[in-house]
Amino acid sequence: SQAPKYLTGDSAAINEFLDKFDVFLLDCDGVLWSGDHVFEGIVETLEMLRSRGKRVVFVTNNSTKDRPAYQLKLTNLGIPSNVEEIFGSSYSAAIYISRILKLPAPKNKVFIIGESGMESELRAEGVPFIGGTDPALRRDITPEDFKKLSDGSLLDPDVGIVLVGLDFHINYLKLSIAYQYLRRGAKFIATNLDNLLPTGETFFPGAGSISIPLVNMTGQTPLTLGKPSQAMMDAIEGKFHLDRARTCMVGDRLNTDIQFGVEGKLGGTLHVLTGVHKREDWEAENAVAVPAYYADKLSDLRGATS
Ligand code: PLP
Ligand code: CA
Repeated sequence: SQAPKYLTGDSAAINEFLDKFDVFLLDCDGVLWSGDHVFEGIVETLEMLRSRGKRVVFVTNNSTKDRPAYQLKLTNLGIPSNVEEIFGSSYSAAIYISRILKLPAPKNKVFIIGESGMESELRAEGVPFIGGTDPALRRDITPEDFKKLSDGSLLDPDVGIVLVGLDFHINYLKLSIAYQYLRRGAKFIATNLDNLLPTGETFFPGAGSISIPLVNMTGQTPLTLGKPSQAMMDAIEGKFHLDRARTCMVGDRLNTDIQFGVEGKLGGTLHVLTGVHKREDWEAENAVAVPAYYADKLSDLRGATS
């Protein structure tokens, strides 16, 4: 494959790049902001893209927020957006479950390991669920639980899916319940597999590190609805009717964003160096994915001549 084209400071290359695409799928953390700090020039860069008639979609693996909460985050950071432009991994999972999987009732209930954003996206799609933020599950496991999990009396017979995302209250009880559903045949779905969660200063366990114990217990790998899963790309294509050849994925991570765009056969991928991965990562011989373009930062696209 060809060496990635460097866009920073090269207005002719930037113009040529911009002319190739109608739609930009934008990863958020590491591209637009880091933690709660929006990068300089991002608001103006998005304005420039919109003024050139480009469509933007905010594609995030963050499973903890639903779309309205994510839009509020964008607003608080000064980034104008429409809720319909936001595509998170919890929304992706909810529409996959309700519109593609369509398990027949009553065995269509979801047991959630995760936060309220997953609950609200399922609720908006009319998918029944239990678990999630239920305070009754935020406790130590008891001898009584062991008995009731063994004889099944603690389990809801309608559960047909176990959905796992980032859960700040993960514990042994929840893992035990999820395992029992899975061994009884529930479908194993994950919002995203990010091993780590970047915070600006350091990293914390990501959603993928919450589902790994269940992978270990069952030997199954979950169907995943976040980047780089092509189930998410199909869902995005279905919603926005995009022309893949005229679409560019922009991101800071090779194994989520760039791989997502390459495997999705998009017209292009742009790696920005403001987040997790650096040049050395795709220069390495065993790189998971190599971008078509790279730039020091997204706001370098303002160097286009209009
Ligand atoms: N998951 C969570 C909970 C996050 O907070 C973040 C980033 O803030 C991510 C995943 C990664 O998000 P993105 O795909 O926007 O980089
Ligand atoms: Ca990112």
